[in-house]
Amino acid sequence: MLAAQYIGDKKFTLVAGSQVAPGPGEVRLNVGYVGICGTDMHIYHGVMDARVAPPKVIGHEMSGTVMALGAGVTNVAVGDNVVVRPLDYCGACPACDAGHSHVCHKLKFMGIDSPGAFQSSWTVKARTLHKLPEGMSLKQGALIEPLAVATHDVSRARLKAGEKAVVIGGGPIGQLVALAAKSVGADVMISEVNDVRRQFAKDNGMATVNPITEDIDAVVKAWTNDKGADVVFEVSGVKAAIETMTKIASVRGRIVMVAIHSQKPEVDLFQFFWKELELLGARVYEHADFEQAIALVAQGKVDLDKFISSVTELNNIGTAFASMDNNPAGMKALVSCNGAV
Ligand SMILES: [Zn+2]
Ligand SMILES: [Zn+2]
Repeated sequence: MLAAQYIGDKKFTLVAGSQVAPGPGEVRLNVGYVGICGTDMHIYHGVMDARVAPPKVIGHEMSGTVMALGAGVTNVAVGDNVVVRPLDYCGACPACDAGHSHVCHKLKFMGIDSPGAFQSSWTVKARTLHKLPEGMSLKQGALIEPLAVATHDVSRARLKAGEKAVVIGGGPIGQLVALAAKSVGADVMISEVNDVRRQFAKDNGMATVNPITEDIDAVVKAWTNDKGADVVFEVSGVKAAIETMTKIASVRGRIVMVAIHSQKPEVDLFQFFWKELELLGARVYEHADFEQAIALVAQGKVDLDKFISSVTELNNIGTAFASMDNNPAGMKALVSCNGAV
């Protein structure tokens, strides 16, 4: 049993941990693959140390295989391939009572607030698990979590077939939002400054715009016959996008805030009055979003394999993180926790 502990300042140390036997309602998994996400990169850069409290095993975009069941577990069986929905909620607060446990008042995010998946064995609550269907690889499974972010965003947007949606930001989440939006029959345009990422979007059948070299307002107007976008997904976290999102939205357009803006940006509230806009927050995902993400891949509507930029073994985890720093246009680096690359 091998675990990679983040110890601060872009460093990991490998420790020979011991497997944790599952208690009642828990399951022990052998971890297959773990994706590195933007949040993991923030942790790696040390900006979340106060919350993470290193040394800690991080990682939350994972797939694995059920190895042992604790008492009372009936939703999975030994040998099942699964993914973890990494949310630990209290089940008793007003948000949980209302059925919104993903925004629980006391939400703990597994892999940030509690130990995560960069280890060969992980013991978790059985209620966090979603089964992968026959034929879906563990590598694809590691990308179900970010795809569930995307299906949640599209569901929050109430996006319908025939509508036009603009995704601001063409990183992994933006590209997955675009694919999830396309899967419901919407036309999608991605706004992205990086040439490689714009090409990736084009290859997936998206319209694209470069907001640095083109007048995005004019491009969206031309694309929508002067109407504006029915839905705008703000995924970039860039200040300029806040100005853009209200400008390019149609009358009664919906704007979904996916990005984490740590600074408080100035929002053009006049546009909300003038065009009767709606602003919708979207945080993580719900049970149904994971099931929807798995279904989209199973039905061949989203090809996750093309998102995998590299696969690195757990004992070289530092290399995988460094590669993300050095290749900002890359999509998803996976860490193999089962010895296979
Ligand atoms: Zn993530
Ligand atoms: Zn709660």
